[in-house]
Amino acid sequence: MHQVVSYYSIHFLGFMREVFPVTVLGNKKIASNSWLLSFKRNFEFTAGHVIGITLYNNLEPRLYSIASGTQQNEVWILYTVKPDGLLTPPLSAAKPGETIYLTKPFGNFICKDDEAIWIATGTGVAPFASMFFSGQHKNKTLIQGSRNFETLYFYNHFKNEMGNNYKPCCSKQDQKDCFNGRVTDYLEKQESIKTGIPYYLCGIAEMVVDTRDLLIERGVPFNKIMAEIFF
Ligand SMILES: Cc1cc2nc3c(=O)[nH]c(=O)nc-3n(C[C@H](O)[C@H](O)[C@H](O)COP(=O)(O)OP(=O)(O)OC[C@H]3O[C@@H](n4cnc5c(N)ncnc54)[C@H](O)[C@@H]3O)c2cc1C
Repeated sequence: MHQVVSYYSIHFLGFMREVFPVTVLGNKKIASNSWLLSFKRNFEFTAGHVIGITLYNNLEPRLYSIASGTQQNEVWILYTVKPDGLLTPPLSAAKPGETIYLTKPFGNFICKDDEAIWIATGTGVAPFASMFFSGQHKNKTLIQGSRNFETLYFYNHFKNEMGNNYKPCCSKQDQKDCFNGRVTDYLEKQESIKTGIPYYLCGIAEMVVDTRDLLIERGVPFNKIMAEIFF
């Protein structure tokens, strides 16, 4: 049984922040350890924004990138469960109709309309999914990495709409139509890399650091590389 937050002010990132209740619409298991949480959108946000989510008044909200488009009626949150985590195990058990608590959306991982390369691994694809579902993918290339095909989230959407500008990479599974290796292996194999356009990286720290170093080595200026690290 969840302990209900009886007030809407909570300690978050060192500040007292307002949280507001929303009702879970869906919380679907989409891969062996991945869920897609949905709730009604009753706020505006920019693709690339994160929100804080909690279930209890004594648990600091955890940050999640919004994965849905800015004009969709539902907000989607793509998350994996940390078995020893305090939020994600009970969150994965939340049923439609239950209440969860959100902070306002915020963040500065925002992509301009110009040509750019998006690089993500795992749930780090969420902000790019939001940009994609918001119609910002026309002049973008998405390099998406995952261990297995099942966690190349939104594969069909990206494949159908982005065609050759979608580069799926599977590091632990030999999969047809996917590059066999990590995103860094994929980049290393490219004869030339565009150095005059921005690169947006999102995922765990190790991937972001390795990819950033590789891009810099290949001539991409430091100030052309924007990153969002999930920790
Ligand atoms: C900007 C940003 C965006 C993010 N977006 C997403 C997203 O879209 N999807 C997503 O799945 N995740 C995202 N994350 C990660 C997310 O915020 C949480 O960290 C994650 O979901 C784990 O939450 P939890 O409460 O279950 O685990 P936590 O309770 O926070 O624990 C996380 C891990 O740390 C370990 N741990 C906890 N306390 C300690 C300790 N004191 N010492 C050692 N180890 C400890 C736990 O055992 C567990 O394995 C994002 C993070 C950031 C910063």
